[in-house]
Amino acid sequence: MGEENIQFPLNPENANMSDNKNPLYIWSVLTNRCPRCREGKLFVDDNSYHLKHTTKMNEKCPKCGQTTDIEVGFYYGTSYVSYLIGVVISIFVFLSWWLILGFSISDNSLFYFLGVNAFLLIALQPPLMRWSRTLWLSWFVKYDPEWQNKKAAEYERVVKEQMNNW
Ligand SMILES: [Zn+2]
Repeated sequence: MGEENIQFPLNPENANMSDNKNPLYIWSVLTNRCPRCREGKLFVDDNSYHLKHTTKMNEKCPKCGQTTDIEVGFYYGTSYVSYLIGVVISIFVFLSWWLILGFSISDNSLFYFLGVNAFLLIALQPPLMRWSRTLWLSWFVKYDPEWQNKKAAEYERVVKEQMNNW
């Protein structure tokens, strides 16, 4: 059992698999892993702040062969996802600020918050763009505990020439 843990850290038998609500799913999203095997890296460059490669993805998952661009314009909707994550972050920052520092209408605290929050959102853009793509893909490609024994699905609607056009 101990050995298996080392060999297969993401082995579903060792995890509490309640569909997508387990920590492994969250971890795989946070670390931008392939949703099918939760092991392979989705992005070519580990550092999202290398801006030329921020959204450059592996064509296929290096671990399980899952196609990452499953149809033309697949990632078009991700700007809404990163917007939503931005809203969630802003709410979180607002509530933390409120609890820790407090807001008052008699000083500039609200403006400081707006400034800090805007800076934070801009600074976080690269990882946000990645997380929204990883999340997006994970809503279309389900985790397959048997990924090591099965071939990844082929996608007919992939048009090579149009890849990475957006
Ligand atoms: Zn994979």
